[in-house]
Amino acid sequence: MTPFEIIRDIPLSLTREGLFRRMGYGGRKRSPAPEIMEQFARAVDMVDVHNLIDARGALWIQKLSSVARRRIATVCGLEIPGSRVFHLMPQATHVVLGLGTIGNGIEGLSRKYLKSDDPILGVMLDSIGSAAVDCLTEEISRIVRDRAAQMGLMASSPMSPGMPGLSLETQDIFFDLLPASELGMKLTPKRLMVPFKSSSMLWGLGKTMPSWSEEEVCKACHLFRHCRYKNVKETIGFKSSHEEGIREASE
Ligand code: SF4
Repeated sequence: MTPFEIIRDIPLSLTREGLFRRMGYGGRKRSPAPEIMEQFARAVDMVDVHNLIDARGALWIQKLSSVARRRIATVCGLEIPGSRVFHLMPQATHVVLGLGTIGNGIEGLSRKYLKSDDPILGVMLDSIGSAAVDCLTEEISRIVRDRAAQMGLMASSPMSPGMPGLSLETQDIFFDLLPASELGMKLTPKRLMVPFKSSSMLWGLGKTMPSWSEEEVCKACHLFRHCRYKNVKETIGFKSSHEEGIREASE
């Protein structure tokens, strides 16, 4: 793996469960009302017909030179602060930083409908965009696991700036280091990623690495109690399937 790797046309398969969770129905036992389902199917069709998802990402890998209590350092002199990084890194020999985005197709159309007399469709489109970013994070993680395996290593689960132990300020490192402009991404002064439907991720690589489920991440999150989008699989009132209305989001 070269220091940088840009990956384009990442295929995403949206699941019914992931879409419903981002609509705020994860953890609810009642199905959405039929009229909501109708709007939802319409939004999924629009994403499909107009090809609104353009998933791409970039990865950067570097060998670690030291692991201190609250920061790690790479052989090229980069320092990454964060207590959670420290807990992850005792076994790690390398670190991978990644950026990914689905582009601004969905959010542009969502904004247009939010300002129109059909705002529900705008909300639905936004939810589909969020589910697509979740899917992109999983897909890029799978690519990182493949690259790690080629090196005879394992990859940890991903962490993102803003999660407990990895401050939002760390976003600056990702955008300084990775070819964000080639991906059509930028960071606002408040460290929001543009397009909004984007993700920044960090993994540790080593001979043995810890992993954690999305549900465990949510349970450790300070927003868990009130978050509408949390992963709580045991109480989701839907079965995961590929029924009508759910399609491949991109080639
Ligand atoms: S509980 Fe926290 S980590 Fe989970 S979806 Fe909500 S904000 Fe994200």
